Amino acid sequence: MSEPFTTQKKTSPILLAILLVTFLLSIFSIFLGFNAYLGGDAESASTYMILGATTLALSGYVLFQTRKSIFRLALKTQPITATMLCEKCGLKNVRDFQRGDYIFKEVEPCPKCNEKMVIASIYRVVKEKGNE
Ligand SMILES: [Zn+2]
Repeated sequence: MSEPFTTQKKTSPILLAILLVTFLLSIFSIFLGFNAYLGGDAESASTYMILGATTLALSGYVLFQTRKSIFRLALKTQPITATMLCEKCGLKNVRDFQRGDYIFKEVEPCPKCNEKMVIASIYRVVKEKGNE
């Protein structure tokens, strides 16, 4: 079953690769710093540690930002509405979009004249900001 109205949740693979490389580099830097510390080279150790910690923080920040935008995208999804029209008496009815709906599809009979109604339009309802 295909779902044409699903929002894309995929994160860019390039971004993920960059994040992974940055993360590995930071781990490597911390490892080098730890090694230098064990070898008695305190100056190199602190340099590597700071480098590693900064890179780690940066990659974590980017990951956090990416996740936040994905979350926002999911929240933005608005309900889809289908308008049904009776071709005989012109009665209009609105209901939520249902899977398999398409324009000119025959739906339930008209409550007024019992003639089959057809879907006239399908659209996404956009809510005004700050208006519930
Ligand atoms: Zn009708």
